[in-house]
Order: sequence, then C-alpha cells, then structure tokens
Amino acid sequence: MAVETITTACAIAGGGPAGMMLGLLLARAGVDVVVLEKHADFLRDFRGDTIHPSTLEFMYELGILDDFLKRPHQEVRELTGQIGDQRIVLADFAHLPTHCHFIALMPQWDFLDFLADQARRYPSFHLYMRAEVDGLLTDGDRISGLQAKTPDGFIEIKADLVVGADGRRSTVRELAGLEVEDFGAPMDVLWFRLAKRPDDGLQTLGRMQPGVVFVTLDRGDYWQCAYVIPKGGFDRLRAKGLEAFRAKLAALNPAFADRVGEITSWDDVKLLTVTVDRLKRWYRPGLICIGDAAHAMSPVGGVGINLAVQDAVAAANILWQPLRQRSVSVVDLAKVQQRREWPTKIMQRVQLFVQKRIISNVLAMTERPRPPFVVTLFNRFPFLRRFPARLIGMGFRPEHVRSPELAPD
Ligand SMILES: Cc1cc2nc3c(=O)[nH]c(=O)nc-3n(C[C@H](O)[C@H](O)[C@H](O)COP(=O)(O)OP(=O)(O)OC[C@H]3O[C@@H](n4cnc5c(N)ncnc54)[C@H](O)[C@@H]3O)c2cc1C
Repeated sequence: MAVETITTACAIAGGGPAGMMLGLLLARAGVDVVVLEKHADFLRDFRGDTIHPSTLEFMYELGILDDFLKRPHQEVRELTGQIGDQRIVLADFAHLPTHCHFIALMPQWDFLDFLADQARRYPSFHLYMRAEVDGLLTDGDRISGLQAKTPDGFIEIKADLVVGADGRRSTVRELAGLEVEDFGAPMDVLWFRLAKRPDDGLQTLGRMQPGVVFVTLDRGDYWQCAYVIPKGGFDRLRAKGLEAFRAKLAALNPAFADRVGEITSWDDVKLLTVTVDRLKRWYRPGLICIGDAAHAMSPVGGVGINLAVQDAVAAANILWQPLRQRSVSVVDLAKVQQRREWPTKIMQRVQLFVQKRIISNVLAMTERPRPPFVVTLFNRFPFLRRFPARLIGMGFRPEHVRSPELAPD
C-alpha cells in the first residue's frame, strides 16, 4: 500500500548531474517536476568531478555562472601527458568559444547541491531524498508513473513522463525492458588520493609507462589519482600486496615516494569497473532514459558528466512545451534520442578507439612507450592542442539552453 500518492507532470528517477539539471530546467520553465534520489545526500567520493567548459556555458546562459564559480574549485587550463620520458601538452582550452577556458574541478556533491539550490527557487520543483525507485506504474502500454521506497513507506508518483536518470546501473531502464548494447572495455580504474605539497609544482598530468596509465588531478590540497589497470586485474594487484603497489607508485613518480604510505589499506583504493554501453532505444511511451542510464561512458576524456548534462539540456529544450501542455508523445521522446544519440555514438567511438589502440597497448607493454609521431607534433605546433580541447571541453554538437523561465500555470 502506498503511503502517499503524488501527481506531477514529470517524475525523474535519480538526482545525479542529468536528473538535477533536467529538474532545474523544467521547474524553471514552470513544469511541475519531482526528482527522486535514493541517497540521503549527494555525498559520493571519487565520482566525476570535472565540470567542462560547455557545462559552465549552461551556467552562463542561466545567469548563475558567477555564483557557481564562488564555490571552491580548481581550474585546469591545459592537459599534459607524459609518454615514456616525453612531456607533451595535449589540450589547451584557451581558444574555446565559451566564457570559461578551463575545466572546473569540483566535488560532485557541491555541483549537485548547487543545482538543487538553484532549482528550489522555483515552486514547481520537488526533491525527495532517500526515495529509491523500485517500480513503474503502467496504463496499458504506457508508463504512467513510478513507485519509490522511502523511510516512511512507499510513495506512488503518477506522471505524464518518467525520466530514468538513475545512472549506469539504472533500475528504470531495466524495469522498462530497454535493450542495452555493451561495447566492452579492456580496463578498470583505481581511484585514490595522495597529499599535495606546496613545492610539487606539477600540473594535472597523465603518465603512460609500461603496463600502466596513471593520471593525477590537482585538487588543491591533494592529488586525485587514477591508476588504470587491465580489466579484472584488481585481484591480481591485491594478491601482490599493498607494499608492492606503493613501490610501483613511487617508481612511477618519485616525488610521491614520501607519501605513498598514506595508502594504509585497500579500503583507501576505490575500484571503478569501466563499462561502455548504450541503449538501442532510449524511450517507450511515457518514459525516457538520459545520461549514464542511456549510455555509460568510458572515463577516457572524463566526459560522462558533460554528456549527462547535455542530454538534460536537450531533453528540456524539446520536452518543456509538451510537458506544460501535458501531452508528451512518443515522437517528442524520439526527438530527444535523435538529438543526443549521434554525439554520444561518436564520442563512444573515439573512446573505444583510444581504449583499444592506445590504452590496451600501453597496458600490455613491457618496454618504455614512445609517443606516436602525430602526438609529438603537439609540442611543435601548439595550435594542434585546440582540437582535443574542443573534443573534451565541448564534445560534439554542444547544446544551448532554449527552455524559457516561466511561472507555472
Ligand atoms: C569513480 C568514477 C569517476 C568518474 N570520473 C569522471 C570524471 O572525472 N569526469 C566525468 O565527466 N565523469 C566521470 N565519471 C562518470 C560520471 O560520474 C557519470 O558519467 C555522470 O555522473 C553521469 O551522470 P548521471 O546523472 O547520468 O548518473 P549518476 O551520476 O550515476 O547519477 C544517478 C543518480 O541516481 C541515483 N539512483 C540510482 N538508482 C536509483 C533509484 N533506483 N532510485 C533513485 N535514485 C537512484 C544515484 O544515487 C545517483 O545519484 C566517473 C564515474 C565514476 C564512477
């Protein structure tokens, strides 16, 4: 028995970047929207913390960029790679046609808190925390709402549209029976942090050494470290012991030898199982999936949040009007997939290419890797760095906020 029944125009499962941005934009356009998030807060360690120039551009378009940038963050203006002994600037964001020429590094919970604060300014925005979606309501063929478990019992949300924005292990897409295509990934990623010292002097950097890819992100007072291993290799690494892992890190970057002892147990190391997949069809009558629920991205380029947010903006642009008229058709939903499938597909192809042709090779290497000739040109011809910057910073087919700011009916 449901303890509460709510009726709304749009029910969104998942308060991640996709769900919160869509909730904000729809509420801003005067659409009644309910966002359900299973956690009690937005706290998560080692999630995507990169806010790309195109996402920052949305903030500008919404008039909230200055407020956003007042929150603590770091700014990455260039991406540098060290391949073997050679250091190469791979991307330079200075020339992007956006207001911010950097990637902002901000804990994902700060970003989500910020979106929630902005959304709460609109009376038609409703956020339920500790509400875990575990069922869909149907009316014949059409999805007509969802059911969620809360500490007080079940709630039923009747909605003209249900949005699955509940991430890569989406319950909604599974309940809706949407078919997933899995593209595989040759690697997993280990995340951990190491203290940053004032004299470190390094920038955000990716290193490729025989058998390992190691990325260090400057987070102000610590380094957020990503250590790429062959798929399923975590157990083998653990079997060799923590001391061997620490020694490997110190060999990779001798400057870290004085602090690898901060990793005191394997609990300090979080495993991200890399998945790259995409739904064949993102919707069915009354329901659509966006963000990771529609397409889990590889960590290559760190574009997952950006794509999730782009989906949300496109969905709001296309759906705000039908939602206000309370008549969302399958054709409207198909338009969202049509708009976002192509940029997602191309980005995943690029990621799969990098995974297969570069990362797999480096992971299998026993000798010091040498940068491919094309990559060495980046140091000789700096304008070449603009292309990866564009790809990573803006992606393909960047969206713009077209949904208006309107009072609810
Ligand atoms: C360790 C790690 C590091 C990453 N690093 C980066 C990076 O540097 N840059 C980058 O761009 N991307 C990164 N990503 C990917 C990025 O975090 C995702 O692509 C992005 O968060 C997707 O946003 P989303 O809103 O679609 O899904 P999510 O962020 O996964 O949000 C889904 C939300 O739904 C909630 N939820 C799940 N199930 C239910 C349910 N049944 N009911 C209610 N709520 C539910 C979850 O709690 C979550 O809050 C990383 C991912 C991981 C795991």
